[in-house]
Amino acid sequence: LNTYGNHFIEKIINKDLKNQVYRKLRTRFPPEPNGYLHIGHAKSIYLNFYLAKKFNGYFYLRFDDTNPIKEKISYVKAIKKDLKWLGCMWDGTEKYTSSYFNYLYKYAIELINKGLAYVDKLKKNEIKKYRGTLIKPGINSPYRNQTIEENLLLFEKMKRGDFPEGNACLRAKIDMKSSFIIMRDPVLYRIIFSNHHQTRNAWCIYPTYDFAHCISDAIEHITHSLCTLEFQDNRRLYDWILNNISIKYRPKQYEFSKLNVEYSVLSKRKLKTIIEKKIVDNWDDPRLLTISGLKRRGYTPEAIKNFCMKIGVTKQENSVQLSLLESCIRSDLNVRAPRAMAILDPIKVIIYNMPDSQKEIITIPNHPNNKKMGTRKSIFSKEIYIDRSDFNEKPSKNNIKLSHGIFIRLRYAYVITVTKIKKNNFGKIICLICKYDKNTFRKNPINYRVSGVIHWIAKENVLNAIFNIYYPLFKIKKPDLEKTCLPFINNNSLVQKKGIVEKSIILNSKKNFYQFERVGYFCIDKDSLEKLQKKNHIITFNRIVTLKERKSN
Ligand code: ATP
Ligand code: MG
Ligand code: MG
Repeated sequence: LNTYGNHFIEKIINKDLKNQVYRKLRTRFPPEPNGYLHIGHAKSIYLNFYLAKKFNGYFYLRFDDTNPIKEKISYVKAIKKDLKWLGCMWDGTEKYTSSYFNYLYKYAIELINKGLAYVDKLKKNEIKKYRGTLIKPGINSPYRNQTIEENLLLFEKMKRGDFPEGNACLRAKIDMKSSFIIMRDPVLYRIIFSNHHQTRNAWCIYPTYDFAHCISDAIEHITHSLCTLEFQDNRRLYDWILNNISIKYRPKQYEFSKLNVEYSVLSKRKLKTIIEKKIVDNWDDPRLLTISGLKRRGYTPEAIKNFCMKIGVTKQENSVQLSLLESCIRSDLNVRAPRAMAILDPIKVIIYNMPDSQKEIITIPNHPNNKKMGTRKSIFSKEIYIDRSDFNEKPSKNNIKLSHGIFIRLRYAYVITVTKIKKNNFGKIICLICKYDKNTFRKNPINYRVSGVIHWIAKENVLNAIFNIYYPLFKIKKPDLEKTCLPFINNNSLVQKKGIVEKSIILNSKKNFYQFERVGYFCIDKDSLEKLQKKNHIITFNRIVTLKERKSN
């Protein structure tokens, strides 16, 4: 945690605490329950969580639930689950903007009474037209000069449900000519006839983000309200609302840049589209950078945290390389993942000079540099499997593959060489007849050179498996910048392979992630893990990440 700090927000906080502007730091994470959390949210979560912990303050979770059309209780549950998994437990019980609806309503009345808010009956598109543009000042609504009494009555009618949706809204009376468009009489309340996951049918008027957020922050005594840069202009409105109502507490808003990751989309709208179009399975598809997707892919909370620490917090908009995220999980798993053997494209090998009955039990370390991770028993026998890609029909220079006249070590076992190749009627190699040197068990031969080391699995130790190999979901670096991301989908983002793994490890290890030597880091897929005890279930592994950085992106 120590290397991360000292970004501009931490400097502000240090100063505020030194000057005793606040006694206790309070931060919050305010997700709207309209989708699942993603890696961008993790950036915001760690920022708020870390600051609260570092300065011995409080970290709150508040559901920003002001739009019942888009929100669902299942999203509330998923968000809580993901936060817990990330290890960022919030202080106290979770909060809901909707539990402040009574206060918000009261403050809206206060603004009306001060002549600072009015009920507008313009339609949505008219409001937009009247608002003007950056170069064109706005025009006052014809309803802007109603009396306070008229506005109170109309707002009451809105609340009672007398107006259909879209036929009236409450607006702040600020300045239609402001150079900040957000200050051109922003909407504070709109009519929505929809059941709310918390308040059911108690309300048919709902506060907007801008009206609800600042007041909720003040109610909770949030000291530093951190949000992303696109809310920079909204800060004026944030302060305007708090300055014009009778609430005493003054939280302050600060903005930092959003996280974007290359070859991925993070915006919930786009994530929803690719789920609805069935391009991916669900919110937890391992190809998505959602928290649940990353979890299912085999990412650890530690790796995600490490990533957030590495990217830091600034005001610069940029896109982070996928390889940075990958390097975080790789270095975590390198230390923690037990090693094992897996073969994605198996080919049979018969060691002809080994007796049929010979079965050797050999002991293999679970981690090359960590004795504490122990050892496992494996079998070496006459019939084994190796990966097809570790064999070359024609030997070439610098050969590290098995071939005629080339000697290759089977990892943790003996040196072998090929003597005969068996093909089927279509010319496909189906079996390699090999010879082993029984004097080379974990020791080098004296009179010839060994060209390389490959992994293998004995027939007695074979467990069939399916391997999900993932590639980036998009063909372009910045799909999040496009209006629609669908034309840029990589149709080969998932490649499934049928292969084998060592039976002994899967049955013995409690860990859910492995480094399959020379192949990559893998985890057992969530669905498969549940069915593991079932008869005839073929285990499925997800590739978390390759062993080395891929060159192609
Ligand atoms: P989206 O556009 O995907 O719907 P959002 O900002 O509307 O995102 P919220 O649920 O409102 O999603 O976000 C909760 C918090 O997370 C906000 O404070 C927001 O600023 C922050 N956040 C969202 N996306 C990112 C991101 N990509 N990088 C950093 N912080 C983010
Ligand atoms: Mg949103
Ligand atoms: Mg939002």
